[in-house]
Amino acid sequence: MNASRMAANSEPDAERAFFVADLSEVYRQFQRWKTCLPGIEPFYAIKCNPDPYVVRLLAALGAGFDCASNGEINQILEIGNVTPDRIIFANPCKAVSFVRNAGKVGVDLMTFDNADELYKIARAHPRAKLVVRILTDDSKSICAFGVKFGAPLSTVPGLLAKARELGLDVVGVSFHVGSGCYDPSVYTDAINRARAVFNMGKEVGYNFKLLDVGGGFEDALFEQAASILTEAIDAAFPDRRGLRIIGEPGRFMVSKAFSLAANVIARRAPLSNQTPVPQSADQPAVMYYINDGVYGSFNCILFDHQVMHPYVLSLNGSFHVPSSEPYHTSSVWGPTCDSIDCVCPKTMLPSALRVGDWLGFDNMGAYTICAASQFNGFELSKVVYTTGGKGASEVRAALKKLAAEIDP
Ligand code: PLP
Repeated sequence: MNASRMAANSEPDAERAFFVADLSEVYRQFQRWKTCLPGIEPFYAIKCNPDPYVVRLLAALGAGFDCASNGEINQILEIGNVTPDRIIFANPCKAVSFVRNAGKVGVDLMTFDNADELYKIARAHPRAKLVVRILTDDSKSICAFGVKFGAPLSTVPGLLAKARELGLDVVGVSFHVGSGCYDPSVYTDAINRARAVFNMGKEVGYNFKLLDVGGGFEDALFEQAASILTEAIDAAFPDRRGLRIIGEPGRFMVSKAFSLAANVIARRAPLSNQTPVPQSADQPAVMYYINDGVYGSFNCILFDHQVMHPYVLSLNGSFHVPSSEPYHTSSVWGPTCDSIDCVCPKTMLPSALRVGDWLGFDNMGAYTICAASQFNGFELSKVVYTTGGKGASEVRAALKKLAAEIDP
């Protein structure tokens, strides 16, 4: 554990919430990908968590990167040892200046799903290698993208003909089944659609060489998704010669690697000698306020439809939390003055939980810090790195150790 002391006593915001990032978990997920999908090159979707150490680790392991903007492309190229051919600009609707800049820095591989994008690319980066992003069934995913991106198959022949007319080089097909896919059988249909588009390409004179299977991979279903995908690819592309297959995993690589410790900064509970205000059957008896919320790291509740499951790191000041404690129905709130800032509307927490105690949250690596704001003047939660290696128990121990060092 390479954690340095977290904060000097009496500093303002000394009890600030913090992440523990276990980089060994990212390494393990990368290896898991390589084992289960040896024929598919992972291009990490940096939007999911652009943490500099995560990105450097994945770069060192040989991953490619899915970038959605100039900023993300620059971040990757600034690492120094990632060549532009390890980047796919996988945003089908890009600003002209971004397309031009991609050309300048040598990022050629990029997606499109509409005719205007083709005109733009023909003008700003005519040497680009284009990938047509097609619409697939995203109804089995927590975050669907089909309402915004993906060319319906009926429009693809027209788009490919237009690309040809503009002298553009279309090299392959991509799709995204939606983020947080809970029914991996949808990959079969997606691969069949991609196969159909390879055939459409042939009809207008293209010989596609790239299949991009996107993201959507969920940790718990990964092995199942990998075998469905492999079987579907084997069936649809029996002759794999000359075919390069890439994927754009985001959440899968980082979700489990980050845990968050948040401090209970306030509590609203009846005084011990007071009769509690009558509660409705499902209204929590005690409200806890913590120092990170939906405007910060917990934006994943609003944007990524996540549900939080807090656990206790310290209880009434002690980091030795007894296993048998009386619990009461509680709610957990973020620190801002907005009532939308609710982390957990209803959960069971020990009756002894007090102001100053710490709560832990696991699986906080995906779509959290990257979209956090500083609304109401609250700083972003900091990140402490570990190469822990033993998974959740090690990370929990690290959270406790670091929190115990903080004495506001
Ligand atoms: N690829 C593209 C184009 C995306 O938009 C996203 C997520 O928004 C991803 C990959 C990563 O998806 P996931 O985190 O579900 O793997």
